[in-house]
Amino acid sequence: MTSGDWPTGAMRALALEGPGRVVQTSLPIPAPEPGTVLVRPAHVGLCGTDLELLHGTAAYLNDGRSGYPHVFGHEWWGRVVTADGGFAPGEAVVGHTMISCGLCPNCQRGRRAVCRNLIETGLYGQQGAAAEFIRLPAHALTRLPAGTREPWAVLVEPAVTVVESLERTGCGPFDRVAVLGTGTIGLLTVQLARHRGAEVEAIGIDPAGLELATKFGATAAYRPEDAPERAYSLVVEASGASAAFLRSLDLVETGGRVAVVGVAGEPVGGLVPGNFVLGGFDVYGIRHGLDHYERTVGLFASRVLDGAALVAEIVPAADAEQAFKLLEHGRSGRPKVILEMGGA
Ligand SMILES: [Zn+2]
Ligand SMILES: [Zn+2]
Repeated sequence: MTSGDWPTGAMRALALEGPGRVVQTSLPIPAPEPGTVLVRPAHVGLCGTDLELLHGTAAYLNDGRSGYPHVFGHEWWGRVVTADGGFAPGEAVVGHTMISCGLCPNCQRGRRAVCRNLIETGLYGQQGAAAEFIRLPAHALTRLPAGTREPWAVLVEPAVTVVESLERTGCGPFDRVAVLGTGTIGLLTVQLARHRGAEVEAIGIDPAGLELATKFGATAAYRPEDAPERAYSLVVEASGASAAFLRSLDLVETGGRVAVVGVAGEPVGGLVPGNFVLGGFDVYGIRHGLDHYERTVGLFASRVLDGAALVAEIVPAADAEQAFKLLEHGRSGRPKVILEMGGA
């Protein structure tokens, strides 16, 4: 198929129509644009951000960047349909969440994640992947290994941010790392920090999640209140709970680092500013790992990261409502719920 065969007409899509409502809908297939590639999504992973969009509590809705109806889907992989930019039809690709303009001063300085004209797939400014087709600029796609069929390829998206957090904080062999949270980000962090030679301990409230963390190489597992204070050279807050952010400041040793990856929306009380000064630690806000897609694909391909072990359920697109319910009612253990979109 060449770019001359770009399909036209209507396509199926899943949309959030208002707080609590997921519907199957029909949309025009996006029209060709120079430099873009049409992709058929295979699988879409759901995460806490999708749940916030469903509940109407996402920042993107409240500040007007997004609105209903909303085609979600930012963790996904698919197959190229009509190619441009060096891609061939049938190739497996993962799509980037953040799409930068390449022209603004921040992009010119190489800081694409803070592009002034940023749009984000499935969040604001760019239709999500919970649809029969998605059109993206070629620069927002990364090739997956030939023969990819695995649903867990959707995990490349959360994993790029895990790579960013451990890169920016320089996680390595002399670190004792605490990972708060046993969701997708937390469990990928345990795996990658172990690979980088650090000693890793898991902190969480789900016994099955803590057990999984131990399987991935965590040498101890604690409930938040039981974890040793001032003991860790690096603390990664991956739970997204405001209380856990506060707790991470008790756990980090003097002069250590705290990487905040979970997006906690509730205000934090009881914060003592002087503790930052006397503790001499660095707190890193980890926005996204936009520059790590290729490397992250390699980490899965070489089995450094185990994606299959994180998958809780694979649900057909037609049962999207059921998939959101699974997400909503909090599962124990394996964290990832994935929608099957049909493009595999
Ligand atoms: Zn996500
Ligand atoms: Zn830009």
